[in-house]
Amino acid sequence: MESIQKDGFDFGFNPDACETCPGHCCCGESGKVWVHHVEMSRISAFLQIHLIDFMERYLDRSGNRFSCKERVADDGLECIFFQGAERKCSIYPVRPDGCRTYPFWDHFKTCSDQVVRECPGVQRVGTIQSVRK
Ligand code: SF4
Ligand code: SF4
Repeated sequence: MESIQKDGFDFGFNPDACETCPGHCCCGESGKVWVHHVEMSRISAFLQIHLIDFMERYLDRSGNRFSCKERVADDGLECIFFQGAERKCSIYPVRPDGCRTYPFWDHFKTCSDQVVRECPGVQRVGTIQSVRK
């Protein structure tokens, strides 16, 4: 697949890298994966559990916001939906927007060093072979 590039970012992203990546964006250092109310309904329906049970079992609350729980892994922390053995997201079809839009987060427009280090699919502009906008 061709690399994807978006306005305002000094890097491109090749989704093919996800096939061999051990899921660096789902595990490692702690980070909030926010889940808004529409996503809660969508994910709980996908898991076929009641919304309240879903929130209690899978989400942490920070003020009025909710994020995916994390669990301790060998190399740090990992998202509760990350399947350790297969190294895959167990709710991939209904994953939160933050996961869908990674690595093109506004935050990375001004400081891409972190995402370049973290994601093997990210390449600096100028090193990309082919680009799809
Ligand atoms: S870190 Fe990058 S390459 Fe790895 S799974 Fe996440 S988006 Fe894909
Ligand atoms: S919801 Fe899925 S894609 Fe998002 S961080 Fe968790 S395991 Fe990764």
